[in-house]
Amino acid sequence: MVYLNGEWMPIEQAKIPVLDRGFIFGDGVYEVIPSYSGHPFRLREHLVRLQSSLDAVRIANPYSPDRWSELVREIVARNPWEDQGVYLQVTRGVAPRDHAFPKGVKPTVFMMANPLVTPPQSHRDLGVAAVTVADNRWLRCDIKSVSLLANCLLRQAAVDQGAVESVLLRDGLLTEGSASNIFLVKGGVIITPPKTNFILPGITYDVVVELARANRLPLEIRQVAEAEVRDADELWLTSSTKEVLPISTLDGKPVGHGERAGKPGPVAARMYQLYQDYKRTVMRAPADAQA
Ligand code: PMP
Repeated sequence: MVYLNGEWMPIEQAKIPVLDRGFIFGDGVYEVIPSYSGHPFRLREHLVRLQSSLDAVRIANPYSPDRWSELVREIVARNPWEDQGVYLQVTRGVAPRDHAFPKGVKPTVFMMANPLVTPPQSHRDLGVAAVTVADNRWLRCDIKSVSLLANCLLRQAAVDQGAVESVLLRDGLLTEGSASNIFLVKGGVIITPPKTNFILPGITYDVVVELARANRLPLEIRQVAEAEVRDADELWLTSSTKEVLPISTLDGKPVGHGERAGKPGPVAARMYQLYQDYKRTVMRAPADAQA
């Protein structure tokens, strides 16, 4: 069952007018929220980021955080899978095609849930291939916009080379992945770029940073030069669906040094375990402590 503008229906029946500005201009924002055994993960944080995206593109939030929380829980309850990925999208609404904002138009709200697809065990055990690509997106990568054409092209560039993700470089600096944030490890220190307009502020990024701090793992949030990416001991990508996933080759070369080159590293394994433990802890907490 999906949700469209106040109604629940099977996805085949969900239709939007062709003049929806999401279709015509990519004029909308979205969120993807994982849910484990009926518990939406970091729901409050996703709803805060949704509000920031809506504010940035000047769409009035159609619902309060409480109403959103109810809807997310309801879509999870209405769908059968144990673990789900909840996708929600708000566009500026339906209006005759004109770049300027229409007046008095209601935003379109769409939500769907899918079985949560997490990386296969082989990716966890062996790590994944990534390639570097020039980050040619706009300067508001902090907005979770449905205008994802650049991200699609950047991801396809990776797929065309047999890789699963592209690691993006802008002006000689690491930004993020086409649909993930990127962390590296050098000499035992976890390093990741700061949250600026050049990257999406990942919910998983925040969890990893919090877990590193709580467990006193050395952490530096700072600009990362391309040479450091290529010389890292470990490279990881993070996202709500991929969690913490090691990258084992970059541009066809093994990541890391010596015997461990090309294999997932120990800090990634530690962080993955901390992440799983953390998930279990919050899932046991009462619902309102999570939302
Ligand atoms: N950056 C980009 C460009 C993304 O699309 C995503 C996934 N939505 C992320 C980072 C990771 O964000 P999150 O941890 O919230 O899934």
